[in-house]
Amino acid sequence: MHRHGGFGGSLSFGLILFLCAVFITVPSALAWSKEGHMMTCQIAQALLEPQASEAVSQLLPEYVQGDLSALCVWPDQIRHWYKYRWTSPLHFIDTPDDSCSFTYSRDCHDQHGVKDMCVAGAVKNFTSQLLHYREGTADRRYNMTEALLFLSHFMGDIHQPMHVGFTTDEGGNTIELRWFRHKSNLHHVWDREIILTALADYYDKDVSLLLKDIERNYTDGIWSDDVSSWQHCNDISKCVNSWAKESIQIACKWGYNGVQSGETLADDYFNSRMPYVMKRIAQGGIRLAMILNQVFGASEEGFATAT
Ligand SMILES: [Zn+2]
Repeated sequence: MHRHGGFGGSLSFGLILFLCAVFITVPSALAWSKEGHMMTCQIAQALLEPQASEAVSQLLPEYVQGDLSALCVWPDQIRHWYKYRWTSPLHFIDTPDDSCSFTYSRDCHDQHGVKDMCVAGAVKNFTSQLLHYREGTADRRYNMTEALLFLSHFMGDIHQPMHVGFTTDEGGNTIELRWFRHKSNLHHVWDREIILTALADYYDKDVSLLLKDIERNYTDGIWSDDVSSWQHCNDISKCVNSWAKESIQIACKWGYNGVQSGETLADDYFNSRMPYVMKRIAQGGIRLAMILNQVFGASEEGFATAT
C-alpha cells in the first residue's frame, strides 16, 4: 500500500527512521490512540484553505500521497528513540493533584523543571517554527516537515483530557482498572478504549463512519453553533492555555470523578463520556486547521507569536 521508493532528498532523517519503525515493536505509550490522532488530522485536512492545503502537501513525504493523517501518530512512534527523547515530555501536562486548573508558568515544564517542555509549549513552539515557512528563507534551524507532524500530533494530545492530568497518577496511567472485562487504566480508557468500544458497538469497526458522524455534528448538528467560538484565536499563547484548561476541567469532571483504582468501568461510564471524546477530537481537528490556515495563509494578520 505504501510506496517505499522514490523519495526526494527533502525527506528528513526522522521520516526515514519512521519507515524503520514499521518493522520494530513500539512500546505502547501515553497518547490519543492511532484512531484519535488520525481523525483529528483528517478533520483538519478537510478544512484547509487552498494555500495551507498546498503547503501541507509540499511538506509531506511523497509516500503518504498527500494524507497528513498517515503521519499524525509518528511523534508517538519516535519519542523513545535517542534522537527524539527530548520530545517525550511534550505529549502531556502534569498539573497539581486535584487542583483542576492549568497555569502555564506553574505547570508547563518537564520533570527537571525545564520551562516550555509540555504539550502547550510544544504547540506554541511548532506553530512559531511553521511561521518561517512563508518567509521562504529555508531556515536550516527548522525542519518544517517535522514541525508540521509534531504540531498536528500535539494538537490532538492537548485536546485529550487525560493528557492534562494530575501529577501523582501520571494522568491516570497508574489508576489501574477494568474496562468491561479486560485490564486497562484510566488514561488508556480516554486514549483508546472509549473510541474502540464506540467503533465496535456503533460503527461496525469502521473509523470512516465514526468520522462522518463527528463531522455531521459540527457541520449540521449539535455543535454547529459552537464552531466559530472554537476557532477563535488571535494569540496562540492564550489559546493553548485555554485548550489545556478545557482538558483538565473535563478530566476532573468526567475523567477522574468518582473513579477508584481497581473498579470496573462499563456502560454507564462509556455512554456518558463518549460524547466528550468525540467533541475533543472535533475541536482538535478544527483548531489544527485554524492554525495551519493562519500560518500558511496569504493574509498578513497571523498570530502574534514570539519566534
Ligand atoms: Zn502523543
